[in-house]
Amino acid sequence: MELKGRTAVVTGSTSGIGHAIAVAMAQAGANVVVNGLGTEADNAAAIAAVAKFGTRVAFDPANMLRNNQIADMIAKAEKDFGSVDVLVNNAGIQHVSPIEDFPVEKWDAIIGINLSSAFHTIRATVPGMKKRKWGRIINICSAHSLVASPFKSAYVAAKHGLAGLTKTVALELAETGLTCNAVSPGFVWTPLVEGQLPDLAKAKGITIEEAKASVVSAQPNKRFSTVEEVAALTLFLTTEAAGSVTGSNYSIDGGWTAH
Ligand code: NAD
Repeated sequence: MELKGRTAVVTGSTSGIGHAIAVAMAQAGANVVVNGLGTEADNAAAIAAVAKFGTRVAFDPANMLRNNQIADMIAKAEKDFGSVDVLVNNAGIQHVSPIEDFPVEKWDAIIGINLSSAFHTIRATVPGMKKRKWGRIINICSAHSLVASPFKSAYVAAKHGLAGLTKTVALELAETGLTCNAVSPGFVWTPLVEGQLPDLAKAKGITIEEAKASVVSAQPNKRFSTVEEVAALTLFLTTEAAGSVTGSNYSIDGGWTAH
């Protein structure tokens, strides 16, 4: 129960990787703020799964495109739970398209949700963490924070940006007892990956099954990572043992970026 008495805010935790991270945090004893834009039924199921470990769980529907909603989410968590000790910036979306056809509104949304929201959450959370001289900030980046793929201009730009933000925040906070790290998965089987297969197939002129096979073939271990594997690595970064790990970007990609 390493996180007993701590509070974790996990953005985008009604689905996929974020949900597995929220479960892992609760299992480790943390109170958890679940966030996301799922349907009412999806949100209720996600909250119930996080709540089954007996810690306090709240749901906040803050839209990661709205700065004021992000600030309110952090303020409310601090007021209701007494602190925000662990911040996991996980919310993210994807869009796959050749650059010349890339919809401008998709570019803005991806930069907003996958990059700028982390600036807003960190900005709002750091003052309280500094006061308590303890904090763990983990940004869920991607192999696309280190390497690029065609047709993912906004996503690759946002994730490279998030990796840079991680390093800057780590250096600013290095003497304060707070750490900031990135976790960079390759392909993990979640609704985000499943949802991009039709567009990927269209962009490459292949079938959806071929698109799925091409995705897996990018990972040398030839399988999708699991959400639980990503959650376990993220949880490690919240521990006392990880106290001097900061400014790092941990790949969990079956060897993809070792190429
Ligand atoms: P997912 O689609 O399963 O979940 C995304 C979550 O973000 C959901 O809870 C959704 O409601 C939430 N969300 C989306 N827009 C939001 C908004 N405007 N405000 C608040 N919440 C919002 O996706 P996932 O695959 O679990 O991805 C989670 C993170 O992991 C993303 O940042 C993604 O880029 C990253 N990632 C995923 C993979 C992968 O293969 N699945 C690989 C590398 C990185």
